[in-house]
Amino acid sequence: MADEILVVEDDDTIRRLLKISLRTEGYRVSEARTGAAALLLVEANAPALVLLDLGLPDCDGMDVLARVREEGSTPVIVVTARNLDDQKVRALDAGADDYVVKPFSMAELFARIRVALRHHAEARQGTATPQVFAVDGLEIDCDTRTVTLDGEQIHLTPYEYRLLVVMVENRGKALTHRFIQSEVWGYPAADGYKTLRVIMASLRRKLGDKPATPRFVATEVGVGYRFIGE
Ligand code: CA
Repeated sequence: MADEILVVEDDDTIRRLLKISLRTEGYRVSEARTGAAALLLVEANAPALVLLDLGLPDCDGMDVLARVREEGSTPVIVVTARNLDDQKVRALDAGADDYVVKPFSMAELFARIRVALRHHAEARQGTATPQVFAVDGLEIDCDTRTVTLDGEQIHLTPYEYRLLVVMVENRGKALTHRFIQSEVWGYPAADGYKTLRVIMASLRRKLGDKPATPRFVATEVGVGYRFIGE
């Protein structure tokens, strides 16, 4: 059966548009216009993914996110009304899988949904890290810890390598500085993520990545980074 997506959105026009578009894409859709209704449907239907508007009439969408996270690992993509970097970071650090900013394109939304569903399935099956990972000319052999780019081996420091693996394991998803820091170093940054930025800059140089037109790692302004591609 097709995956069910719960659309939590109080704007009738947007909710209807999302419903039609998601159905056309092959998903089943349930809908809620309040946080309370959303939580009931999460429990009753166990949707495959929740698309969550943060500005709801009866509560803050962040409260809904917190409750969904208490219940389990259902992927949640938050929809933020404006380009509020703080809100995006807070949502991601509170366990949201990703975000889209209104107005968003359906193509962008579908890509985010595919990534979140795939990542969730991989996490459940414990297959997040393949032995050899290859994308767009970049090949990582996790066994020998060798990285080749367009057939040429590139030499990474241990931190650059771990940073790359964390990005690739979470490819397609926006990752906050805090998340990357904790995955790579295991402890909070005391320097405002300066070390992370320096090592990322060095990794990108070795990958031949230009910040303005990245091939692999895109900057999510005010948030962190995203490894491009699904
Ligand atoms: Ca709203």
